[in-house]
Amino acid sequence: MNVLITGAAGFIGSHLVKYMLNKNDVKSVIAIDHMSYAANIKNLKCPLRNNKFNFYETDISHHKNIQSILCKHNISHIINLAAESHVDNSIEFPDIFFQNNVMKTYEFVKTCYNYWTNILQDNDDFRFIHISTDEVYGDLDYNDITSFTERSTYAPNSPYSASKACSDHILRCFNKTYKFPVITTHCSNNFGTNQHHEKLIPKVIYKALQGEDIPIYGTGKNIRDWIFVEDHCDGIYLALTKGSVGETYCFGGGHEKSNINLVTEICVILDKVKPKKKGSYTNQISFVVDRQGHDRKYSLNYSKAKKELGFTPKIDSFDKRLYKVVLSYVEKFKRSKN
Ligand code: NAD
Repeated sequence: MNVLITGAAGFIGSHLVKYMLNKNDVKSVIAIDHMSYAANIKNLKCPLRNNKFNFYETDISHHKNIQSILCKHNISHIINLAAESHVDNSIEFPDIFFQNNVMKTYEFVKTCYNYWTNILQDNDDFRFIHISTDEVYGDLDYNDITSFTERSTYAPNSPYSASKACSDHILRCFNKTYKFPVITTHCSNNFGTNQHHEKLIPKVIYKALQGEDIPIYGTGKNIRDWIFVEDHCDGIYLALTKGSVGETYCFGGGHEKSNINLVTEICVILDKVKPKKKGSYTNQISFVVDRQGHDRKYSLNYSKAKKELGFTPKIDSFDKRLYKVVLSYVEKFKRSKN
């Protein structure tokens, strides 16, 4: 397989590049990113030394660049992660999200479709994996005991999730109308290293270590289903190699936590690994005005992915994995201060 990964210098993309480079059935990994504020080329430091790897700085909507990369590297599989991804930003700047996640995705899909049909002559092995989110299904009640599945109705609430839902529909129609070999995956909240410091886990750690208030929206009881980023990469690889064209697969982590419980847990870890002179980091927690349209609860049922792809999240202890992730951000914080 010659795999093209978009959004590769971001959080999940950079982990996926490393994951794919370790697979024997992957001949080459070609990565692209337009290097927005969310991208960091340092995330690709190791892969850049690997001769199976190539990186191009380009926007996914740049028809000529994409066409030339696809042809030059004889791309057989595409994994599309490129997107604006931060919900808070989408509330403040919705235009950017609809332009980027909808219209640019559409341009990209057109280029890839033309490549598949004109250059690869509708090759059967070609796949386009589109990476979506659980947020397209909207939210659940706090007391809901059901979880979202592939059959749940789309009901996005934020400009981010609405823009992702639009991009899912673009891919769906290219599959249904033009038989483009698309598979869409939906994942819950990822955690791991390399995440931009605007996202919850690194933000809490940096605010704590800087002695600043740790902001929590509303009452902090909003619930997220957390999955370790490498487990998500496993799911993507399984969808790529075993998934059926036209299908969608959900990858949940099975670790549901309220924001306040997660933030408290991070503070307790920080108390152990980098104790303050006096008191606990939990004293820095500060409740702020709630996010507009804040989704209450996400929960994703991954039974279909388990049954059809053999997917199961490998980490059994969320707490141990979180501890390691917190440690790595603490180290990164220390390095940035030297
Ligand atoms: P991220 O913001 O860390 O990375 C996204 C990357 O895409 C950035 O490097 C950015 O520069 C690049 N990009 C954006 N638009 C582009 C364009 N037009 N052309 C080229 N590059 C572009 O986001 P992430 O957390 O790594 O998420 C990656 C994907 O996974 C997104 O599609 C997101 O919706 C989806 N997802 C994320 C999560 C999560 O918890 N992080 C969960 C489910 C799904």
